[in-house]
Amino acid sequence: MAEIKDVKGIGPKSLSLLNKINIYTIEDLVTHYPFRYDILKRDSLQEVEDEDHIIIDGKVESVPILMRFKAGLNKMNFRFVTPSGVVGVSIFNRAFLKSQLQVGTGITVIGKYDKKKNVITASEIKMGILSNKERIEPVYHCTNGLSNKNLSTYINMAILMYGREIVDYIPNLYMEKYGFVNKRTALNIVHNPPSMEKLDEAINRLKYEELFAFMFKINYLRRQNKVNNKGLSHNIPHDKIQRFIENLPFELTGDQKKATEEIILDLEASHRMNRLLQGDVGSGKTIVSFIAMYANVLSGYQSALMAPTEILATQHYHNLKELLKDSSLRLELLTGSTPKKEKQQIYEDLKNGTIDFIIGTHALIQDEVEYYNLGLVITDEQHRFGVNQRTNLQNKGYMPDILYMSATPIPRTYALTIYGDMDVTIIKERPKGRKPITTCIKTNDEIKDVLSMMYEELKQNHQIYVIAPLIEDNENSGDLKSVCHLKDQMLLAFKDKYNIDIIHGKMATAAKDLIMQEFLQNKIQILISTTVIEVGVDVPNATTMVIFDANRFGLSTLHQLRGRVGRGSAKSQCILVSDSDTKRLKIMESIQDGFVISEEDFKLRGHGDLFGTKQSGDMTFRMANLRQDYKILLQAKKDSEEYLNDEESNSSELKQSLISGVLMN
Ligand code: ADP
Ligand code: MG
Repeated sequence: MAEIKDVKGIGPKSLSLLNKINIYTIEDLVTHYPFRYDILKRDSLQEVEDEDHIIIDGKVESVPILMRFKAGLNKMNFRFVTPSGVVGVSIFNRAFLKSQLQVGTGITVIGKYDKKKNVITASEIKMGILSNKERIEPVYHCTNGLSNKNLSTYINMAILMYGREIVDYIPNLYMEKYGFVNKRTALNIVHNPPSMEKLDEAINRLKYEELFAFMFKINYLRRQNKVNNKGLSHNIPHDKIQRFIENLPFELTGDQKKATEEIILDLEASHRMNRLLQGDVGSGKTIVSFIAMYANVLSGYQSALMAPTEILATQHYHNLKELLKDSSLRLELLTGSTPKKEKQQIYEDLKNGTIDFIIGTHALIQDEVEYYNLGLVITDEQHRFGVNQRTNLQNKGYMPDILYMSATPIPRTYALTIYGDMDVTIIKERPKGRKPITTCIKTNDEIKDVLSMMYEELKQNHQIYVIAPLIEDNENSGDLKSVCHLKDQMLLAFKDKYNIDIIHGKMATAAKDLIMQEFLQNKIQILISTTVIEVGVDVPNATTMVIFDANRFGLSTLHQLRGRVGRGSAKSQCILVSDSDTKRLKIMESIQDGFVISEEDFKLRGHGDLFGTKQSGDMTFRMANLRQDYKILLQAKKDSEEYLNDEESNSSELKQSLISGVLMN
């Protein structure tokens, strides 16, 4: 297959920008689906209500006046003639548009209309007027230097040049059965929708394809597990395990005990364990996994724990290290940023069996890594890993028992479908002494209240997370808050008394670790972050979480984020800052249970939100959403089972690629 750099118009600079947003192959490029569609329908000034969102085209009537404020902020005002009258336009932080907004230029303005003042506060200005009355416009996740328009151009060029070569994972039988359009057509439609109906059809077809490939793989794994389920029978010294549990700084909850017993039984049994441990954030899954790892090591095997981020792996490493401090067992940490020399040593010692416990990231399943006698593998935050990684270790010839952990709050029926190849244990009970996290919603105008709530907590020596959707302000960010921007704001408010720092996904790992360690040691009191903090991190002294632009996040993501506080015995709070979407956010105020939140989220999201941020804790598909597309999932499950059992197609290329799971990461 051709590479991205072969696509006409993509030079080295665009290539590196595309890489920056995780686009590496032609397939990545053409499946960089819009996260939203704007329906550009011309409004008239008379028809809309005060404060309504408005889309309107016309011409610039006066030279824009630019005002600059502190901290790099700016605002531009100009008059605008539209078919339904003259109106004022204000727009923040788009000084760079000034030269394009010449008097007489045709533009389309999108924003909020203040009827009394006759002013639109624009969230966006597009050059050019609307060509017909309604247009469906794809909106992509972009990055600085790579605009929506650039992306659209590159994607369309790639479809034009290579669309025919892109593999379609739906077998002919089902293409015909459902009357699906071919893949190239479907891609063309989602990137250039001619109508809502066609768009819906194309989307459904692409969702079905993803879910078919996914369920095929799950069904295949289940079948493999049945055929090949001989595992290790561990010989476990129960008294020592009991002592380990008694020495913990807390008593296990009933559900933790039950889960531990189930896992120990699995370890002892002669079949291979393949179990999912599911429990809401903060339910205390980690300790259960540590006990399992300890039991496995005492019966003579090596234990591995894999986490999706280095921050989390490092945290687990420190915690287990503490529990093992009086033992002679050896524990090591292996991540992408472990220095080369140390890495070599670890590889060697894993191979010769002198390491008992290894904790790390994907680094644990790289080709170079060989184990002496791996007996148990645990993956934390399993939904963060692709389904292919479920098989990686087995493919290397090991038959360890496997435990997956996940906080994705999904109803049991869903769990049984998407984890159809595993046994499932659910922890429902929360550790004793936890106070509920109080949640409240504040508008941007109430920022003073937010700051004083923060101040109250800081005075009591507690720490605070502040979350923003973006790392830096950029030309597409509009009014969205960024980590860097909030840092300036927090510095103004708190810098004399408290230490403030930032953490985000683009920082080097060593830098991230350092920040996390400092936060854990309370050397930093306010940590400003993107959602990298969402997974697993545990700092019990952090009692407050402030989430800016909360409306930008799915409820499940908000719930995961909120789960970072309320981990100690102090009262905790979560402040959602948002000017809109209050009805949805109110659910967070009244509900603490992740399962219920996910159901509510499901009920509330209509069609319009199908393309909501993909940052939630789900197993991520490019198009499908497990929760919303459950019906398609069930159909795909049935069809893929049928296809798997159809022996005639066994040697087909398509079946082989479905088995290797090429569509999934
Ligand atoms: P999660 O299930 O989200 O991974 P963790 O395992 O990180 O949750 O546990 C959250 C916090 O609760 C940790 O600080 C952990 O030490 C603590 N914890 C776990 N089990 C108990 C318990 N039975 N009693 C008190 N605290 C507990
Ligand atoms: Mg966890």
